[in-house]
Amino acid sequence: MSSDDARPVTPGSLADVIEVLAGRRLAVLTGAGVSTDSGIPDYRGPDSPPRTPMTFQQFMGDEAFRRHYWARNHVGWRHVGRTLPNAGHRALAELERRGVVGGLITQNVDLLHQAAGSRHVIDLHGRYDRVVCLDCGTVISRAELADRLDALNPGFVESVGAVGDVEIAPDADAVIEQTSHFVVAACAVCGGVLKPDIVYFGELVPRERVERAYAMVDAADALLVAGSSLTVQSGLRFVRHAARTGKPVVVVNRGATRGDRYAAVALDGGTSETLTELAQELPAP
Ligand SMILES: [Zn+2]
Repeated sequence: MSSDDARPVTPGSLADVIEVLAGRRLAVLTGAGVSTDSGIPDYRGPDSPPRTPMTFQQFMGDEAFRRHYWARNHVGWRHVGRTLPNAGHRALAELERRGVVGGLITQNVDLLHQAAGSRHVIDLHGRYDRVVCLDCGTVISRAELADRLDALNPGFVESVGAVGDVEIAPDADAVIEQTSHFVVAACAVCGGVLKPDIVYFGELVPRERVERAYAMVDAADALLVAGSSLTVQSGLRFVRHAARTGKPVVVVNRGATRGDRYAAVALDGGTSETLTELAQELPAP
């Protein structure tokens, strides 16, 4: 058994969670599981079909792949913008208002925490509503790019919409096959390659963002993980950091996670209902 294997932990109850977290100021780390009740599927959840995520290397290395990606994203991102925060998002915003939650680190790019009213949010993996130029670093809004892509591809979104059922992935990716004629926009400033401001597999989270997230954990008394299986190191490192610095970690997730072995309590359950109960039960520190 490698050191990364989750060891079996005693399943925690809500009472266990409250006992560990009561009176403590929390940093929270959230993942895709928090957004599933808003209709954004979690491709790593226990009941999810296997899926091969796009890598940064694929995006950079292949113009046809980029065209395909942008065509799908051009349809998918609008669906993310129409989703609404759920009870789990609202509970975390309420806990922040009451001073229980000091800050929130999210692996989601959907901005639903901000939509629910959370204010101290670090978008660890970026945000779906921005686009960055990989050559000159210019950042534009996804809405501005949408206008340019609509002008370059008249009728595209409408023709896809007519097909009907469009599968939406957490990274605003939608599955469409007829993309070979899609025209991709280049950076208006330098002509460079545009990429959604989202951290892909194989890509590093910007160092400055990681340091802010460590500081958020350091400023808290405990770390609550909600809706993440902690499959990737970008999230797991904050769990290790909290455990290493003697702060209790609580994990709330459907199914086992790579962080369970570091957790004081691991509760197997949905985030919407569990976070709602925590918002009712946890006193201000
Ligand atoms: Zn540029």
